[in-house]
Amino acid sequence: MITRTDIGSIVDNYDPKELAIGTLGSHSALNIFKGAREEGFRTVCICKEKDRIVYEKFPLVDKLLIVEDFSELLNNSLQEKLRQLNVVLIPHGSFTAYLSTEQLTESLYVPMFGNRELLKWEANRDSQAEWLRKAGLRLPKTFKNPEEINGLTIAKLPGAKGGRGYFLASSPEAFDKKFKEMHNRGLLTKEDRSRIHLQEYALGVTVYPHYFSSLVYNDVELLGVDRRYESAVDAIGRIPANEQLEIQVNPTYTVVGNIPLTLRESLLPKLIRMGEAVNKKARELAPPGIIGPFCLETVITDDLEIYTFEISARIVAGTNVGIGTSPYAYLKYGENMYMGRRIAKEIREALETEQLGKILA
Ligand code: AMP
Ligand code: AMP
Repeated sequence: MITRTDIGSIVDNYDPKELAIGTLGSHSALNIFKGAREEGFRTVCICKEKDRIVYEKFPLVDKLLIVEDFSELLNNSLQEKLRQLNVVLIPHGSFTAYLSTEQLTESLYVPMFGNRELLKWEANRDSQAEWLRKAGLRLPKTFKNPEEINGLTIAKLPGAKGGRGYFLASSPEAFDKKFKEMHNRGLLTKEDRSRIHLQEYALGVTVYPHYFSSLVYNDVELLGVDRRYESAVDAIGRIPANEQLEIQVNPTYTVVGNIPLTLRESLLPKLIRMGEAVNKKARELAPPGIIGPFCLETVITDDLEIYTFEISARIVAGTNVGIGTSPYAYLKYGENMYMGRRIAKEIREALETEQLGKILA
């Protein structure tokens, strides 16, 4: 386990005037780089050859490091290079999608803006649910095995797969039938059956509030809200019911993009308190709690109950809808504040007040 002391001694050797912000080239990298640039940092992008076009067309990157695979981040030579460049890494969804919790907590000797200790609470569905429940949030019920299903249920594969391979079932028999279908389509393997997580389907609309936990200001800020644009589930409503039955369409949840949302103002008190409660609990479970951005994934029902089905304790790609500005960031900061910039601002302020040790792990 890499400790904060290990990271502290790396940061002590950094040249504070040359601090650079780095991340993997994908997910929310443009958001992060733009914010870093606007706060006066140099930027380093670790990128696959096939994606370099993005970071060349949008001129936000000072140093492009091409890799064959994101797992090269675990190589000593690349890490040495990043440390030489005084890089602070900003973790996003591709870090947890392409590297394991063990790799991130045991083999990545580069300072990160994020709490590695919390990853263990987040990566495991049971401990994540415990964290959220202890914070007083309402969660959908879970079923231990397909035989227990007794109502509309969503079947999920472990890991941040962006909803690929998810399906719905309302009885054990329906589960078996759907599983076979998904297996035949090559979306699931036989081994996946025992790894599937079964959750009560909360009937309502999805709402993803974005928060920022600031250790410099000891505050949790609500900076934006989005919903996802998911294929095929967002396409099904465009086909009449008869044809839906004819083709036996299965809703899948592959993320294609995100749509900005503004919420009914009377929902804000609860959502703000939920963000604060989750952060407070995180501080007890893994001090100093959440460092920087986090997002709750919720469904809001027609009686305005808020069900939280997941948390991401890092920048989510949904914050890309706020690049430039979003209503809630605007209300707090005025123009031109967004998650990528908020991250860089926190790092800059910690640097100026000699609190880097507090926010890097
Ligand atoms: P990628 O690098 O695009 O494969 O993304 C890494 C992880 O983040 C995957 O699990 C994706 O499903 C998720 N992800 C990427 N983009 C978005 C998005 N716009 N909204 C929500 N999740 C996303
Ligand atoms: P996830 O991979 O957990 O982020 O879920 C992907 C998508 O599945 C979400 O964006 C929702 O559209 C949907 N979803 C996940 N869990 C639930 C739930 N318990 N009830 C209703 N919809 C859900």
